[in-house]
Amino acid sequence: MTARAWLFDVDGTLLDSVTGTSLRPLARELLAGLRELDVPVLLWSAGGADYARRRAESAGIADLVTAVHVKAERDGRGHWVLPALPPEHAPAVLVDDLPHEVPPVGEVVGVPPYVGPNPHDTALAALLRRLPARAGPRDETHSNDEDPLNTGRTR
Ligand SMILES: [Mg+2]
Repeated sequence: MTARAWLFDVDGTLLDSVTGTSLRPLARELLAGLRELDVPVLLWSAGGADYARRRAESAGIADLVTAVHVKAERDGRGHWVLPALPPEHAPAVLVDDLPHEVPPVGEVVGVPPYVGPNPHDTALAALLRRLPARAGPRDETHSNDEDPLNTGRTR
């Protein structure tokens, strides 16, 4: 099966790393857009799977999260070891504020650390732009024969 899922780090990536309570601007839009496309949205955190779920719940995005996992151990290169995942959750895109710690098993996307609540943060805008335009005013900026989500599908 072709990898399709997106795997997100929590602290400093989707939530601010100081209070852990501020959802990064555009995070909800990005996750919702992925889910609309049937792309699994996975979270993982060195704080643990329960921690990731609690953070998602308090940030109001738990409804958009397919599964949560722990970053439990590192390999010999300092990369976090992927948890055991069902084939349909194999990650195509891995988003992290510490991208050098992410195993290069898909497209690794580094984002600047989201340190504290900041309504002007735009780090997720580029990822959101990769999603096809939703119903509504047509967005002609996408070429339809590309695969902007890296889903492995040709459209
Ligand atoms: Mg992080």
